[in-house]
Amino acid sequence: MTHRVTLLPGDGIGPEVAEAMKQCVAATGVAIEWDEQPVGEFAIKKYGTPLPDHVLEAIRKSKVAIKGPIVTPIGKGFRSVNVALRQALDLFACVRPCRSFEGAKSFKGVDLVIFRENTEDLYAGIEFEKGSPEVAQVIELCNKLQPRKIKDDAAVSIKPISVSASRRIVKFAFEYALKHGRKKVTAVHKANIMKFSDGLFLRTAGEVAKEYEGRVAFEDVIVDNCCMQLVQRPQNFDVLVLPNLYGDIISDLCAGLIGGLGLAPGANIGDGIALFEPVHGSAPKYTGLNKVNPAATILSASLMLDYLGETKAAQRLEQAVRDVIKEGKAVTYDLKADRNDPTAVGTREMAEAVCSLLRGKRPA
Ligand code: NAD
Repeated sequence: MTHRVTLLPGDGIGPEVAEAMKQCVAATGVAIEWDEQPVGEFAIKKYGTPLPDHVLEAIRKSKVAIKGPIVTPIGKGFRSVNVALRQALDLFACVRPCRSFEGAKSFKGVDLVIFRENTEDLYAGIEFEKGSPEVAQVIELCNKLQPRKIKDDAAVSIKPISVSASRRIVKFAFEYALKHGRKKVTAVHKANIMKFSDGLFLRTAGEVAKEYEGRVAFEDVIVDNCCMQLVQRPQNFDVLVLPNLYGDIISDLCAGLIGGLGLAPGANIGDGIALFEPVHGSAPKYTGLNKVNPAATILSASLMLDYLGETKAAQRLEQAVRDVIKEGKAVTYDLKADRNDPTAVGTREMAEAVCSLLRGKRPA
């Protein structure tokens, strides 16, 4: 059976890691018909916008997509294409597995999965610019409604957290835990300070947890304490469920625990629709240098194959990546003890080593 998949190569290092991923998927023998769609910088050049409507339509039609990273200008310019994709397609669950890699600078025994709520929180993009007429109205209203005063030279971002979105992500995490034999779900929050928004997330998580009592354990932890515990005893965590912003930050922290951003894959899942992508960004300084680690994108493709029901191919692909990393020869600079090690290979060569293993040959 041939699967139709929308491929958004992205920009920066995106096209290089996407090409590496495509070759590795081909080497698994699974037939994919790629529907390639430019986004980000390339779409701006061609269509005048980083995320044309026809790209969203293409993903709605194929129902499965994989993407490379896309640049988001910092503090100015267009809003994040990544966030827009998640919101437009209602990809409410961001799933990021983190498991130690032999041969990488990984903590031993890390095996956790992050479930990040993907549609609301401070990430929703509801912001009011300093000095704008809108922010003046928001400040006036807020100052009237509650005792703490917002300064009139402030910018304001809004943090919506709803029962429905919290319930949906927590339930998704528990269902995953049940299906995959996971023992414990930990809700991460700052409900001691944000009593209404994070408090609501925590209360909702507690209610959902009751439906799984006796089957999956539940605990909660304050986000700052969670960071400290993750760095000291990451093995204590199993499934983590978090609002959007904490999920974003903790994902990078956990990527660091297992050997860096080059090794962290991800999936954005909605109702009957999924978009796979590495956790890392477009690392613009490495664009076109054949330098960065393609593993995060290849491992995202392994998650995609699993989602498509190609479970064996998904496992073989993940194992081939793990074997190449364990051997430590055909790996990129970030996986070498010394980042300036001249024996580090490029993006293409690391992908070729994975392909060789999949085809039953030892990497050259
Ligand atoms: P980044 O993840 O692009 O890079 C940070 C650093 O991590 C790099 O300088 C590099 O040292 C390392 N790194 C990242 N990917 C690597 C790889 N595959 N192999 C080896 N090392 C790797 O983060 P940034 O510099 O903060 O962001 C750059 C741009 O990417 C920004 O515009 C940001 O908004 C965007 N971004 C996009 C996504 C996405 O598309 N989903 C995610 C995060 C950031």
